[in-house]
Amino acid sequence: MKIFLDDRLVDESEAKVSVYDHGFLYGDGVYETMRSYDTVFFRLDEHLGRLERSASLIRMQIPDRKFIAGAVHETIRANRLSGAYVRVTLARGKGPIGLDPALCKTPTLVIIAEPFHPYPEQFYQDGVFLVISPVIRNHVRAINPMIKSLNFLNNILAKADAKDRGAYEAIMLNAEGYITEGTVCNIFFVKDDSIFTPSVDAGILDGITREVVIRLARGSGLSVHEGLYSPADILGATEVFFTNTTAEVMPVSKIDDMTYAVGSISKRLRELYQAEVAKYVSLFRDGQKEVD
Ligand code: PLP
Repeated sequence: MKIFLDDRLVDESEAKVSVYDHGFLYGDGVYETMRSYDTVFFRLDEHLGRLERSASLIRMQIPDRKFIAGAVHETIRANRLSGAYVRVTLARGKGPIGLDPALCKTPTLVIIAEPFHPYPEQFYQDGVFLVISPVIRNHVRAINPMIKSLNFLNNILAKADAKDRGAYEAIMLNAEGYITEGTVCNIFFVKDDSIFTPSVDAGILDGITREVVIRLARGSGLSVHEGLYSPADILGATEVFFTNTTAEVMPVSKIDDMTYAVGSISKRLRELYQAEVAKYVSLFRDGQKEVD
């Protein structure tokens, strides 16, 4: 595969980053993952906007949005991909050992593009198994979860524990015991035909899929509440689902010992989301617009 490294495409075997890069030494950097449908990246501008926000929150100057958007498209073109998973990483860059970010003059940009492999359809039909993690989500005054940071150990530990327990994904609580999000997704639950999802105050990454799903749900007449919810709130739910860029809307069949039906609201929201993607793709087909 061809990798975009800093300012050009290189073969994967030549895509090397310095051992002095602070991204490697300290997890100092930010990233985004996005998905293209054909050659159109759904909500590319929002992903690049969030990348800028993450970079600004860690005081890192990055190349402008147009450059990154162009590089993202160049990378999928070079790899002849249609339907791609793309990860854009911006590490702090090469510098002497030491925490001061000013030691690194230029950030390292890496864009990896791969064919997108859909999740098994069975997951959408049957739902997936989640557990409540003993690992709490980063405090907003530590590494704010709004920073999509290379320092992902918090979530990695939660994911490893979930795997040990045979689960697909972990739901992380905050230090006060409120639900935040999954390790790579946002959580929703349905009760009395209303939808509930943790608010940004709970300490979450405000997912781009989450925002689209909230808008679609409200647009179809459902009420959506954002707030602070405890595991007890989710236990009494009739449906649970999670969202992210790659899985879209994924139903949950079980959390710890509690089971849930794959219900009509989760199914409807998945359909609405897919229709929204199709509409978007037809508007921006062929990537003529690099930033929408
Ligand atoms: N929360 C976390 C911690 C994530 O890593 C992600 C995505 O990777 C999400 C939520 C969902 O965000 P999005 O819908 O923008 O993919």
